Amino acid sequence: MIAAMSDAELQQLNMRFHCTQCGCCCRYEEGFVFVSTTDVKRISQYLKIPRSETIHQFCRWVPFGTVDHLSLREQKNRDCVFWQDGGCGVYPARPLQCRTYPFWNHILREPGGWERESRACPGIGVGRRWSSGEAAAALEQREGNPVMIRRAEGREG
Ligand code: SF4
Ligand code: SF4
Repeated sequence: MIAAMSDAELQQLNMRFHCTQCGCCCRYEEGFVFVSTTDVKRISQYLKIPRSETIHQFCRWVPFGTVDHLSLREQKNRDCVFWQDGGCGVYPARPLQCRTYPFWNHILREPGGWERESRACPGIGVGRRWSSGEAAAALEQREGNPVMIRRAEGREG
């Protein structure tokens, strides 16, 4: 459960952001793009394939204690499985984790998190200033759409 952040806390961050579409957060290194049931449904509808096929072809289960969390796979070169031709191949249906970046809980809540993240993302600190309401809405969307999990058989946490 994510505790609500106050307007004042969010406003203090001076949240300027405009994606330069450099692609860095989609490519080059392994990472986790966790997906919710809603994400799987949206991607499946976009690709016109069954949800089970989306999970089988494009996702992997990541162990977390006694459960596994569902994340997108990577290509051999470590780009996201959906990165193609210089962009996201499922952009209109991309997961919530992607569409709500950089308004993520730990980036907004941890002291210095916003500034730290700006070193990894050239879009942070430029462009228009996002309102506290927009950031709060992003946090709420993530909270309302938890990552898909499954029980990990035979593993203790
Ligand atoms: S790293 Fe930042 S600027 Fe680059 S694609 Fe990702 S969100 Fe956009
Ligand atoms: S789903 Fe699309 S936006 Fe998200 S990491 Fe993969 S290529 Fe990037």
